Order: sequence, then C-alpha cells, then structure tokens
Amino acid sequence: MSEHKPSVQLPEGYLEFYQDLESWQNEEAIKLAKIYETPKYDIIKHLKNSKKPLLQEVNNGIEAEQLKDVYHRLLIFLQDARPAISSDLSVFIKRIDDIDFKQVIDAFCKADYEYLESLAADFTTNTDLFIFTIDHAIRPFFRIFARSYQENLRDFEFYWDIPSICPVCGAKSHICHLSSDEGQRIMFCDRCFSEWKVRYLSCVYCGHDRPGDINVIKLADDPAYQIYVCEKCKGYLKTYDKRENEGRSVDLYITNIETIYLDMLAQEKGYTNHDEN
Ligand SMILES: [Zn+2]
Ligand SMILES: [Zn+2]
Repeated sequence: MSEHKPSVQLPEGYLEFYQDLESWQNEEAIKLAKIYETPKYDIIKHLKNSKKPLLQEVNNGIEAEQLKDVYHRLLIFLQDARPAISSDLSVFIKRIDDIDFKQVIDAFCKADYEYLESLAADFTTNTDLFIFTIDHAIRPFFRIFARSYQENLRDFEFYWDIPSICPVCGAKSHICHLSSDEGQRIMFCDRCFSEWKVRYLSCVYCGHDRPGDINVIKLADDPAYQIYVCEKCKGYLKTYDKRENEGRSVDLYITNIETIYLDMLAQEKGYTNHDEN
C-alpha cells in the first residue's frame, strides 16, 4: 500500500520544545549518573519468569529526595520554556513539599495511574499537565536504570511476550525501527529509551501473524516512514525503516512526535494504537 503524506502542521515551537526538553533530560542524566546507584538484575531471567516489566517488580533504587530535586529543576525549566502555563507551574513549585515522591516513584513503576490522577486532582484541574511534569522528571532516572540492559535486550534470542509494552519501564511504545542489516524490527520506548526485538510480521498488540493480515503502509514521497497495520485487531504501529534512508539512524523520540501525520493517516483508515486500553 502506498499513500501520500497528509499535510499537517505541528503548532509553532512544538517540536523545538520537545527537543529542548530532551536536551535538558540528557543533561540531568549526566549529573544523576554520578549519584544514582542502580541495582542490577538478570533481566532475561526476570522477563522469562515473571512476564512483567522489570521496574514493576524490583527495587529501582531511586531516592525520593533526588527525584524531588530534579522535579524542582524541571518546573523552573518549564516556566522558562512554556510561559503560558507558568501560573499552574508556580502552584506545583509552591506545594512541592506536599508531594510524596516515594509514592510517586512507586506509582510510576507500577503504572498506578489512579494514584497519580488523584494526586494531580489535589493540585490542579489540569491533571494531564501535572502527570506530564512528574513523568518527565522521572525519565532521566529510568533512562539511567535502563542503560544496563541495552546489550541484553539487543542480543538475546528471547522475544518479549508483550511487545507493545517496554520490558524495562512498562510504558507503552508507539514506534519501532527496522535495522539496516537484516531488517530486524526493534521497538523503542520513549520513556526510558530501551529497545527490544519483535518478530517481523507479527502484530505487537494481538500477536496475530497470518500472512496477508499484517500489512505495511508506505508513503510514496517518504518511504522510510511507514505504518504496520494488523487486520485482526486493527492496530497500527509507526515504523522508521533505516534501509530506506541509507542506514541512517534518527532520534526516535523526536521522530515519534514529528510523524503525527502517520497517526492521522492510520486513524483515518480506521486503525488504532490501542491507547484507549
Ligand atoms: Zn521504557
Ligand atoms: Zn493485531
């Protein structure tokens, strides 16, 4: 299937904001790497036995005070980058001592969004903003934690049972890439930057793999950016195919944001990324 790229404009400054946020997080991660001691686990053994993302079950070693410091710096960064939401952010700064960061860390690791929603509701009517700020403050920690497992996840012959969910931090992934050599499909987590393998022709949501039911939609004018679709569960997954771009790597975190036109195209055709679940 070959389609034309839908024309869609991201709001002015949107992409730049995420690029600045990612740079800020990279700088925080450099600082944190000196003080945050990550416990080490046998991730392969863990995934095989428990079938649950690693951070959901093990001690993450994140100290509440360290997260609080990062959170405070993030709010100051955001006040500068996003003056329009400054008044909400001031409330978060003023009430930072009311946040139980130990509980927050637990809630993020265990995907306890009920706790986060109720905490957020105590601070603001804009609960999404509150959760966004906490989520982005914890990401530098998760990225450091996940680094130890990059090699394991890339090399081993084991395919993770729930390929749409990050095996390290449990976040939902929306994008994969195809490696330049054999076209191995590799999922990417934009929360902790982990990558893990997934079978070439199999749906990451329902596991369906009947030939003919898993298709790839390509853009005639931009063939490196594609959408895998499953006719059984109507799921779609965005894909960056390095082989169509001279083997060039891209920042998948930014690519995921940039390729909103792929989401639109897939959704117009009746496919879903199953985010409602
Ligand atoms: Zn992750
Ligand atoms: Zn499916």
